[in-house]
Amino acid sequence: MLAVYPGSFDPITLGHLDIIERGARLFSEVIVAIAHNPQKKALFSVSQRIKQVQAATGHLKNVRVDTFDGLTVEYARSQQATVLLRGLRVLSDFEYELQMSHTNKSLWPEIETVFLTTSNEYSFLSSSLVKEIARFGGNVRHLVPATVAKDLEACFTQTPIPSQPTLE
Ligand code: ADP
Repeated sequence: MLAVYPGSFDPITLGHLDIIERGARLFSEVIVAIAHNPQKKALFSVSQRIKQVQAATGHLKNVRVDTFDGLTVEYARSQQATVLLRGLRVLSDFEYELQMSHTNKSLWPEIETVFLTTSNEYSFLSSSLVKEIARFGGNVRHLVPATVAKDLEACFTQTPIPSQPTLE
């Protein structure tokens, strides 16, 4: 059975990767579907995010990466997938995810949302948190795949301010 794992993945974290790896053991194929949503201001472009997810999931033979815009259910339908995979961390995720899963079912009754609960070590982890740490020069290497850590460093490395000539 084919499952679509939709999300922003801006950027992919080890929490996302954990859900993808576990999903890949449950389903015959998992499509990581990167939502292109111009309303949401993303740090990384969709093509950068595709490369990051591809690099992180290269070891998983039944995982592929794609991008979509518009409704998630329409994308799933176009791929002939009847399962949406989502991750749950905390109670606040649940409220939103429950609403989304009912909404999606109202749009296409055949769609089922399957939730995997986060592994303990990633329960606090989100893309926004990672960006916040990186913005202030903190270490994110234990939170994201190696390519993402490099991309974040490149993104937030300040170009050195040229030293001012001293006035005598
Ligand atoms: P969205 O903008 O659609 O919420 P995200 O990229 O933030 O996209 O998240 C995609 C999915 O991955 C969501 O179901 C989210 O709950 C889940 N997720 C994000 N971080 C983690 C994590 N650390 N552990 C488990 N699931 C996670």
